[in-house]
Amino acid sequence: MRSYPRINIHLDTITENTRQMVTACAAHGVTPAGVTKLACALPEVGNAILAGGITLLADSRLSNLKKLQPLRAQTLLLRLPALSEVEEVVQFADISLNSERVTLQALSEAARALGKRHQVIVMHDLGDLREGGFYEEETLSLCREATRLPGIELVGLGTNLACYGGVEPTTANQNQLLALARQVEKENGLHLSYISGASSAGLGLMMRHELPAGINQLRLGASLLMGIGLNDDPVPHTRQDTFQLEAEIIEIKVKPSVPVNSTALDAFGNKPEFVDRGLRRRALCAIGKQDVDIHELMPVDNQIIIVGGSSDHLILDIDDCEQHYEIGSTVKFNLSYGAVLQCMTSEYVYKHMI
Ligand SMILES: *Cc1c(COP(=O)(O)O)cnc(C)c1O
Repeated sequence: MRSYPRINIHLDTITENTRQMVTACAAHGVTPAGVTKLACALPEVGNAILAGGITLLADSRLSNLKKLQPLRAQTLLLRLPALSEVEEVVQFADISLNSERVTLQALSEAARALGKRHQVIVMHDLGDLREGGFYEEETLSLCREATRLPGIELVGLGTNLACYGGVEPTTANQNQLLALARQVEKENGLHLSYISGASSAGLGLMMRHELPAGINQLRLGASLLMGIGLNDDPVPHTRQDTFQLEAEIIEIKVKPSVPVNSTALDAFGNKPEFVDRGLRRRALCAIGKQDVDIHELMPVDNQIIIVGGSSDHLILDIDDCEQHYEIGSTVKFNLSYGAVLQCMTSEYVYKHMI
């Protein structure tokens, strides 16, 4: 049965993107982790990433890591564990990113109670101002605590960039992380397995040969799944056409482009504004703002104009289209990162894996 709206997911493209990135990273001494959150950790997507040569799967949400359990890959929890979930973190994640002493203590207790060892990467904030201690002394002290606690093992130092503050990964800030990592190693007499410098946003630096030697992990999501990195720019050697949204036309009518006697607010409490293009042929599609931010949709047929929408309808101007559309035809859209995220999350959008 055909089921719309649907998001088409090209698994072989994800595998190929992954393979390309694993190879590119290997040339720079980097072993990437594969981040599945954009695809809500669909096991098929996890498998596509593993097939491309990655062995460590990472996700922000514990519920997503649970979904990946049957794949039997190594797992990394990207978002700091909540105190309320430490038992499950120890159960379902091999490694977690951390920045709080009480959380480390709780993880330690949970690990001991479960007779497990849990690995932690301590996060340091290099100015992007999301997670991690901002002061080096704070991070050094947390690392000392991590080595002291039973049941947990300090295995790395990491930082996150280009997420909240839009701070770019640079040779300078990566060197700062590296120097701090060496200091942690020296102070505690240990070797850190992971120096985790950035997300896909760090690939450009790496490919320009400007990532300092010693940074040995990048956490890659957008680049594997969508072929994009810093500023959503395409990453060399990857494809950007993994995901496409397909919606079905349920009405085609010729109508004026300005509503008749418009005075009230629209369904979202806004005063709508209209461009008068005269009488136009319009198509209604069965998808709406409840599923995706319609301004983030890019019609593959570039003669289509997105006019607007409501919770459950998308209104298109198809007057200029050379392609013939009829009731039951489908319209394809390319998607931004945010739009893929929404479509993957919406239970109303069928996940069509190819
Ligand atoms: C989402 C996330 C990533 C992956 O980012 P991409 O831009 O998708 O590569 C890496 N690290 C952390 C901590 C994240 O939350």
